[in-house]
Amino acid sequence: MTERLYYKDRYATSISAAVTASGDGWFRLDRTIFYPEAGGQPGDRGTFGPYSIVDTQKAEDGDVLHLVGKGSAVPSVGETHTLSLDWEHRYFFMKEHSAQHLVSALLFSCFSIGTVAVHQGDMFFTVETDKAEIDEETLLSVEDKANEAIRKGAAVWQDETDHESAESLHMRRSIKVQGRVMLVHIDGIDVVACGGVHVASLSEIGEIAYVSSEKIRGHVRTYWKCAERAVGYRRENAAIVRFLSSLFSAEPGNIEKEAARCIAEVKSLRHDLGAMSEKLAFSLFAAAVAETKGGEPVIFISDAAAAAFDSVVRPDDDRTVLIADREGRFLFQGPEKSFEALKAALPGLRGGGRNGRYRGSFQMDAESFISGARNILDGNGSTERA
Ligand SMILES: [Zn+2]
Repeated sequence: MTERLYYKDRYATSISAAVTASGDGWFRLDRTIFYPEAGGQPGDRGTFGPYSIVDTQKAEDGDVLHLVGKGSAVPSVGETHTLSLDWEHRYFFMKEHSAQHLVSALLFSCFSIGTVAVHQGDMFFTVETDKAEIDEETLLSVEDKANEAIRKGAAVWQDETDHESAESLHMRRSIKVQGRVMLVHIDGIDVVACGGVHVASLSEIGEIAYVSSEKIRGHVRTYWKCAERAVGYRRENAAIVRFLSSLFSAEPGNIEKEAARCIAEVKSLRHDLGAMSEKLAFSLFAAAVAETKGGEPVIFISDAAAAAFDSVVRPDDDRTVLIADREGRFLFQGPEKSFEALKAALPGLRGGGRNGRYRGSFQMDAESFISGARNILDGNGSTERA
């Protein structure tokens, strides 16, 4: 079995090691500082001499497998090289794992909220709770308490004990392993069974930010960011506020009010515009009808949106009608076979409908569309409704 040095020295970034076994895409070493994925913490990556290690996983027998990329060469048994961690990757997940323990511990000790599942990701970590509702004030209070603990810099350490001693600690989370148990302590705040690799002091986390929460499987799942991701999040939010502040010409504290006022104004203008478009559509249609000989299809390009004619062209009107607007939308009323003929003859025409009324879009300019359609509809000669 590989000697695991990642608990002995959590901060070792390189060691010398020798290959003891290798196979398709994997190899084992006599000793390693690479943590295999477990407990939500991703497996380590890095290099072994000239070989890239893209992931580290636990083998079925519990040993550590160093994985190379698909199709990449693996080292032979006996090869000795320097094993180097992608430290940025590992250190971020050490910070994130400790941050997750801190959040779960504070939720439990301050608000009796248990953790049922966790996820540690590249951009954020999640804590799925055992509660169906949690108000935002509670989560912001956890954020405050977590940042206070980070400022104070409580020590974090790991040790191993037997199952019975671990059980007697009555920890917030049940023990999932048999035999000896690895414990993670946050001084004065938390102790829990966990095989992950953690930071030595909470101060290394830098900061924690509460992001959002959602309901899943009847539970509240909460989203958090820590360390450099929390700093990035705070900066992005500040940039958004500056952008909105300038967009709405409002002080940051007035953005919400100003945005609500603008949206109400847009809704009201949209309503007025709808009414005016309908009036315009009514006049345009009346003019087009007046210019069309009785029985011939009414075909024209409209400056009002095709949709504005929806209530203007009556469904019981016997004439074939085709109206195209400048935005590439059309309204057609007429026999289905005529619509099918248009679709077949005019490339880029998309749309559909029923009961003799069809809507859709076309890809060419309105003049070409109308002249192409006129050839089909005039040639068709039929004005009967299907
Ligand atoms: Zn853990």
